[in-house]
Amino acid sequence: MSYREHTKVIKIGDRVIGGGNPVLIQSMTNTKTQDAKKTIEQILRLEEAGCEIIRCTVPDHEAAAALKEIKRGINIPLVADIHFDYRMAVEAIENGADKIRINPGNIGGKEKLSEVVRAARERDIPIRVGVNSGSLEKDLIEKYGGVTAEGIVESALDKVHMIEDLGYGNIVVSIKSSNVLMCVKAHEMIAPLCNYPLHVGITEAGTLRSGNIKSAAGLAMILYQGIGDTIRVSLTGDPVEEVISAKKILKTLGLRKGGIEIVSCPTCGRTEIDLIGLANEVEKMTAGYDLDIKVAVMGCVVNGPGEAREADIGIAGGKGVGLLIRGGEIIKKLPENELLSALKYELDHWNDFGNGTE
Ligand code: SF4
Repeated sequence: MSYREHTKVIKIGDRVIGGGNPVLIQSMTNTKTQDAKKTIEQILRLEEAGCEIIRCTVPDHEAAAALKEIKRGINIPLVADIHFDYRMAVEAIENGADKIRINPGNIGGKEKLSEVVRAARERDIPIRVGVNSGSLEKDLIEKYGGVTAEGIVESALDKVHMIEDLGYGNIVVSIKSSNVLMCVKAHEMIAPLCNYPLHVGITEAGTLRSGNIKSAAGLAMILYQGIGDTIRVSLTGDPVEEVISAKKILKTLGLRKGGIEIVSCPTCGRTEIDLIGLANEVEKMTAGYDLDIKVAVMGCVVNGPGEAREADIGIAGGKGVGLLIRGGEIIKKLPENELLSALKYELDHWNDFGNGTE
């Protein structure tokens, strides 16, 4: 059962999530939101990488005010992230936020929450209710004997009810934990209980390598079960890396089409060319192409040609030379240092060659 087919359709700016719409990629800026210029610059870089929804923290009035300028300078929906101060949420909404992320439990009581809901209702923008294992309420920790998936789910549903009780149903839910298996379990538990779209991510996943592995493992288990309407790969690093990783995860799971897929061999004692360097160059060079094809970069003439034939186009290395293979046919034998430019030529003229027209 694919839960995401049945979640409520929610609009965030000009994008739509839920109800089986494509899973969208989110990221979060790490500039000072108050510095609109720098924040816009970063968001534009993220857009170029494929980011589809962006979140900025709004800790004070200056940041809330900067949202106006940020909105004018970017092309994707803007989410304001608020903690504790309901006035920041109201100001963010007034300044054009397309969605706000709050924890209704720490916004200062029911009256203040109803002020936030009133402002959101006026502009018809969604509220994302976020619960994080790190800030789980004490009573739920006691009830379940520690931080558990059950506790996270109960906390999230409590928060959803707080907003629903105010007559508002324009809601997105996120439940996060840095413990991958707990995060997966919590999503498995909440998906059948709640039909609001789920924003999924492994929080505080870590630096580039461990963050990518934890996020890929956790998100794959969750997304593969049909759960999740937007994702964030959370990394300690440049947020552009988050977006690149998120795209790769969605593509690997068949949830996103388009873009060149690179397959490359792990190299072995037979490899006679600088395949690692070449594969990295190919990955960099192909990043900007809007072609839905597979490119193989193989290290030898034993297995290489066979593997490269499986791809739309491929290189199979030899001793200082390489074969260029298109559609299963060897089309050229070239010196090693000409392989990259020959591949680029092929890609530049991909559609001229009558490829991709079937
Ligand atoms: S394709 Fe050739 S070089 Fe690459 S791992 Fe296989 S045998 Fe080794």
